[in-house]
Amino acid sequence: MRLALIAAMREELSAVLARMPDEQRQRVAGRDFWVGHWHGHEIVAVLSGIGKVAAATTATLAIHRFGAQAVLFTGVAGGLGPDVRVGDLVVARELLQHDMDASPIFPRHELPLYGLSRLRTDATMSQRLLAAARAVAAEASGLLGADTLATFGIGTPAVHEGLILSGDRFVSTSAESAALRRELPDALAVEMEGAAVAQVCHDHGLPLAVLRIISDRADDHAGGDFTAFVQAVASRYSVALLDRYLAAG
Ligand code: SAH
Repeated sequence: MRLALIAAMREELSAVLARMPDEQRQRVAGRDFWVGHWHGHEIVAVLSGIGKVAAATTATLAIHRFGAQAVLFTGVAGGLGPDVRVGDLVVARELLQHDMDASPIFPRHELPLYGLSRLRTDATMSQRLLAAARAVAAEASGLLGADTLATFGIGTPAVHEGLILSGDRFVSTSAESAALRRELPDALAVEMEGAAVAQVCHDHGLPLAVLRIISDRADDHAGGDFTAFVQAVASRYSVALLDRYLAAG
């Protein structure tokens, strides 16, 4: 079964490719798809692009042109839940497009003609991802080094499971994240792609799991050390996590 590994950030994809020595590149629609193996799994690895349309196109191509039968998405996100901190890991149980609003024709957040606003991830894949996330969180200081953790103010990373929001906005004001929390109080994190990939997987009846590493709190400081965080923390976490996930079965 071929698995699509869709990464949101370039640094993550580079780290993934370093683990796939046999990868072959194929360029479609301005995207590089890398086909290869990791722990004996057939993989197609690709950058999602940023935003819902870019991510949906990438996922659709991974399925139709590269035969992906399951999708695993990794990237960074802004923390929304009160106890979701920078450095924490969030596994999506559900994804919702927070900027979808066809009201009053359809209820706020409902995907028009789907009768749904929340799309569920695959339970089996998500359980495996959670187990990998817990193992990686427990090893965070060995993996990243105490200095890196201190630089980014990360204590012991927590692992959360629940609702992730996606929309075509980088949420970088406290006012906007407060509004999202009011509207969707159970939301753990906000990003720009996951719910779009979930809609594509839903349409094709294919299983999806999504993991996000919290890079910021989606507040007035969200723009801060973004690139440094992705390089020093997020890409190392996601590769360690994918390594565990794929080694497990
Ligand atoms: N400065 C970055 C911008 C990337 S946009 C760059 O140069 O590439 C942010 C990416 O991280 C998106 O892919 C999104 O999914 C995720 N993300 C992280 N924090 C976010 C936030 N607060 N709001 C929305 N998306 C966020």
